[in-house]
Amino acid sequence: RLQLNDLTKVFDSGDNEIVAVNDLNLTVEDGDFLVLVGPSGCGKSTTLRCIAGLEHATSGQITLDDRDITYKKPKERDMAMVFQNYALYPHMTVRQNIGYGLKITTDLSKGDINDRVERTAELLEIGDLLEKEPSDLSGGQQQRVALGRAIIREPEVFLMDEPLSNLDAKLRTTMRTEIQQLQSDMDITTIYVTHDQTEAMTMGDRIAVLNEGELQQVGEPLVCYHQPKNRFVAGFIGSPS
Ligand code: ATP
Ligand code: MG
Repeated sequence: RLQLNDLTKVFDSGDNEIVAVNDLNLTVEDGDFLVLVGPSGCGKSTTLRCIAGLEHATSGQITLDDRDITYKKPKERDMAMVFQNYALYPHMTVRQNIGYGLKITTDLSKGDINDRVERTAELLEIGDLLEKEPSDLSGGQQQRVALGRAIIREPEVFLMDEPLSNLDAKLRTTMRTEIQQLQSDMDITTIYVTHDQTEAMTMGDRIAVLNEGELQQVGEPLVCYHQPKNRFVAGFIGSPS
């Protein structure tokens, strides 16, 4: 179980302070798929980066299974993150790119790494592309490699920051379903960041709506849709009635 307790992140750029995340309280149960949604600049990426340890919380606490991980290094967190710009290593093959996720954190033998890479690639239906380089792949295939590199370690928590926004509409729809399938097959605790209402409504078990660094509502998508807690939620995802 992942918990954020009064998580706050302030960016101090000279004489003005930006409160990117303001007293955020959020719990994600084991195996849950939570979608964090809100308009541009509302603090989604900052929240995710604090959870991953890529950004230091200004105050508050992050716990994983009741262990305080607020000040742990990213590598000590057993989390994997996929970004919008997933930057594969251009001169490595798909096999090497996916395997890299494992090499840096484990001491498995070469054979074991290859087995895991092949299983992960099968899962993502890119098993026949292992010897290709990223430049030979389509956008969707590259995105699958990035997902593979992240999940191969079977992390406890999977964090995704707008992973589909560079793909065309049709592929986005396909990948949406595939990510959901992958998440439920692996039963992995997941936070998925998006500003896309359709993704929010269709992908998660629950959604958390953020505006100006503050949490507006957390709940099942249809509950937030039909019973928005305030005007902002109503306007952003709610039914027009
Ligand atoms: P988007 O949907 O556009 O990706 P977001 O919800 O991910 O937006 P954040 O990137 O978390 O938003 O930014 C939240 C606020 O914090 C914004 O006002 C942004 O300008 C500010 N911010 C983010 N990173 C920094 C930084 N490194 N230094 C200063 N301000 C920052
Ligand atoms: Mg962002």
